[in-house]
Amino acid sequence: MSLFDVAIIGCGPAGATLANLLGQYGLSVLVLERETDIYPLPRAIHFDGEVMRVFETAGLREQVEAISRPGLKGMHFNNAQGQTLMIRAGSAPVGPHGCANNHYFHQPELEAVLRQGLLRYPSVQLRAGHEVQAIEEGDQTVTLHVQGRDGPDTVRARYVVGCDGARSLVRKHMGSKLIDLGLHQPWLVFDVRLKTEVPQLPEHTVQHCDPARPMTYCNVTGNRRRWEIMLMPGDDPEQMVLPAHLWKLLERWVTPEQADIERAAIYTFHSVIAQGWRRGRLLIAGDSAHQTPPFLGQGMCAAIRDTANLAWKLDAVLRGQVDDALLDSYESERSPHVRAFIDLAVRLGNIIQTTDPQAARQRDERFKAGGPEIFHLPAPRLGPGLWCGQEPPAAQIFPQPALADARLLDSAIGRNFAVIGQRAALEAVSLQTQERWQDCGMVRLVAEHPELEHWLQQHGAQAVMLRPDRYILGLANCSSDLDRLSDLLPRRLALAV
Ligand SMILES: Cc1cc2nc3c(=O)[nH]c(=O)nc-3n(C[C@H](O)[C@H](O)[C@H](O)COP(=O)(O)OP(=O)(O)OC[C@H]3O[C@@H](n4cnc5c(N)ncnc54)[C@H](O)[C@@H]3O)c2cc1C
Repeated sequence: MSLFDVAIIGCGPAGATLANLLGQYGLSVLVLERETDIYPLPRAIHFDGEVMRVFETAGLREQVEAISRPGLKGMHFNNAQGQTLMIRAGSAPVGPHGCANNHYFHQPELEAVLRQGLLRYPSVQLRAGHEVQAIEEGDQTVTLHVQGRDGPDTVRARYVVGCDGARSLVRKHMGSKLIDLGLHQPWLVFDVRLKTEVPQLPEHTVQHCDPARPMTYCNVTGNRRRWEIMLMPGDDPEQMVLPAHLWKLLERWVTPEQADIERAAIYTFHSVIAQGWRRGRLLIAGDSAHQTPPFLGQGMCAAIRDTANLAWKLDAVLRGQVDDALLDSYESERSPHVRAFIDLAVRLGNIIQTTDPQAARQRDERFKAGGPEIFHLPAPRLGPGLWCGQEPPAAQIFPQPALADARLLDSAIGRNFAVIGQRAALEAVSLQTQERWQDCGMVRLVAEHPELEHWLQQHGAQAVMLRPDRYILGLANCSSDLDRLSDLLPRRLALAV
């Protein structure tokens, strides 16, 4: 029976991204996926700039750009009369992550890119058509009982990550409870392909906050357009997905002469978060750990952020460079972070899903008083974990400016820890810190570039230390602050750029 460093259960966006990131570290990784093909039904269509940055770290930015488009027109929340109540900010072509803040895509196409990416790594195997049916935990390894295409099989791994979606077997095996965050509502979701120009369809996403029938419209990519339509009391889900019904719902925007309906499905949008993302050698990530209603387009984004947080920690633990207690910081850091997004999505859901006409009128009056309200995606801090500092920006993600040689910051840092600062502060650290930096492959960057200098000035710091996932480990006002921060660094990490 072969032994893998990491077995990943599920090859959705979380599993495929994690496998790509772990492949870069040269770890032996087995991905087990129940389905033989990529899930074809309409799901995610939006991801944010931070997520593009993770794809960039995985060496797939160009490939992802080829199947997505930057979202430069924003998202509008309109009332039944078409008046705009709220607008999501952040539609600049280049935001803090060195790319657009929002990107639109078709989930099956993204998953195909991620699976293609796995072929770059001889140490990573994907077995599609393989369902994990039981899990046996040992002291040193975990054994998975798998039903494969050619019959039953067993595999062993030092760590197992359940990226196995909302009904996660791994989560159930771990006995992790799901905490209910309050929103559960069925919606009809379908994509159409336009056959001709339909000028009245807007470029921007629209949340139609119409109490008679809340809906979402989105321009996805190419000629694909998405509608998400809330089920109302008395709706028959089986009837709702029939083409005659779908066209009736669409008649004010588009007709069968102008478009074909691609696929329709009914989903119940949930807001839940698991308590217990790790038990010994078992971990969960993505929808198995948390689910959010898609009003902010953030479910998959959170899944990708999980993988960025977990990949470097798993590598460090598997190489024996740190105690496996580091893996406990995965949940403590990520859980409050994802919770901030779910809470906002639930608040927006309550605005969109208002079906009482009187309550909708009052809502509209409240918003209209000051003109459209502009809101931003949250940029939360990590929860308690491997970082230090009372105030933000410690534990927030660091931006990605272009450097003087036109490279983006992350390409200069690779998968390493990094320290960016004034030359004098970097040069005055203790001998012990210098050794520490050497041990952990720390990348040192003198902040000679205007954007980096400006950032340090703005935060009144001489230097900033970053983790391999680009989150801020801490800020330093002098070299002895850098010495103190360096005590947090895992020892003897030797990561290649
Ligand atoms: C209508 C809709 C719209 C959405 N829009 C957005 C959006 O715009 N932006 C966004 O960020 N998110 C969005 N989401 C959420 C997003 O689709 C999910 O968060 C994302 O797919 C989660 O990825 P995952 O890899 O964690 O889980 P999944 O994609 O569910 O993948 C889990 C995989 O595990 C496999 N599996 C399960 N059990 C086993 C087993 N025992 N053995 C082997 N394999 C197994 C499954 O077959 C599956 O392939 C949307 C979701 C919906 C429903």
